[in-house]
Amino acid sequence: MDKKIVYMDHAATTYAAPEVVEAMLPYFSEKFGNPSSVYSIGQENKAAIDEARAKVAAAINADPNEIYFTAGGSESDNWVFKGAAFANTRKGKHIITTAVEHHAVLHAAEWLQSQGFEVTYLPVDKYGMVSPADVEKAIRPDTILVSVMYANNEVGTIQPIAEIGAVVRAHGISFHTDAVQAVGHVPIDVKAACIDMLSLSGHKFYGPKGVGALYIRQGVRIQNLIHGGAQESKHRAGTENVPGIVGLGVAIERTVRAIPQESVRLIAMRDSLIAELLRIPASHLNGHPVKRLPNNVNITFEYIEGEGILLLLNTFGICASTGSACNSVSLEPSHVLTAMGVSHEISHGSVRLTIGERTTDADVAYVLEKLPAIVRRLRSMSPLTPQELK
Ligand SMILES: *Cc1c(COP(=O)(O)O)cnc(C)c1O
Repeated sequence: MDKKIVYMDHAATTYAAPEVVEAMLPYFSEKFGNPSSVYSIGQENKAAIDEARAKVAAAINADPNEIYFTAGGSESDNWVFKGAAFANTRKGKHIITTAVEHHAVLHAAEWLQSQGFEVTYLPVDKYGMVSPADVEKAIRPDTILVSVMYANNEVGTIQPIAEIGAVVRAHGISFHTDAVQAVGHVPIDVKAACIDMLSLSGHKFYGPKGVGALYIRQGVRIQNLIHGGAQESKHRAGTENVPGIVGLGVAIERTVRAIPQESVRLIAMRDSLIAELLRIPASHLNGHPVKRLPNNVNITFEYIEGEGILLLLNTFGICASTGSACNSVSLEPSHVLTAMGVSHEISHGSVRLTIGERTTDADVAYVLEKLPAIVRRLRSMSPLTPQELK
């Protein structure tokens, strides 16, 4: 008998939906032409890319000519940081971002610092929230880019993006948001939120891996990252990943359409996981209790290690994550929890459970049957556990 698998790591990646895979398949072999070629099997691929572009644009209220396909969230983030930085050096070399960004943003920002740019990393409150007033205070005459993630990948906190966008727009500065965790999970309107650039990635919303997009509002100054051929209106070179782009288009359309019903279902499961897990003594919710992604649960259990919890969950077929950059090679605590003021000793005991389309009430019940017992077992073995919790 196959081992039962309960997948609660949708923030790491998702399965491609069946209709996504079905839409992609013809483009691997039957409809293989190069979209830049004049003959019809090339041109039908160009039409498929344009159709996907229209779907991505519609999902975030952008115009199709403002959507550029990339190889995923990391490329989109790198394109923004490097492209916007080098396009605006005449105005200045100061960039504002936050302490809780994904490494695709943080490491690109650090590289820019090595190239002579100056970066301000905004703090967050205990819920992981950035304050629009702090954004405003950090703006200087030489600021050329502000980048604040839409929703956090570890703790699920959703930022006040529209308020921050309005502040940044009023100063005439480009505003980018890494919306990789938000697209397909919460409704997004780039016009209403004054967003100039937005990163998204297919594999976080039931599309394929290795394909994403960057929305660049018409008129925003940005240089190219990938140089070469004339693809993507001469802004992103390389023969297009046609199957991936077609899959991304189908995925974003069907997933965004489902948000109103699916988010209600997920929030109910999320909140029951949170309520039940917080009944375990010395446990704490990480992230905002309400302004959080419908699929994210992140809890710290004091006195034990997240790694140990994951290994035991895995023996029951439950896939979760420590929700931190802490992995077997690095014992660094999560930069997100650290920025939220969680002490190093206790941040090590955090677990992230991220649910999704295939998660059922039975899966939630299964995790609630196994996880409290795992915490008790690890605590009974830990020398750090106070006697009354053993
Ligand atoms: C997953 C993720 C990325 C990276 O996206 P890839 O497509 O895997 O390169 C960037 N930012 C956030 C917030 C993410 O969750």
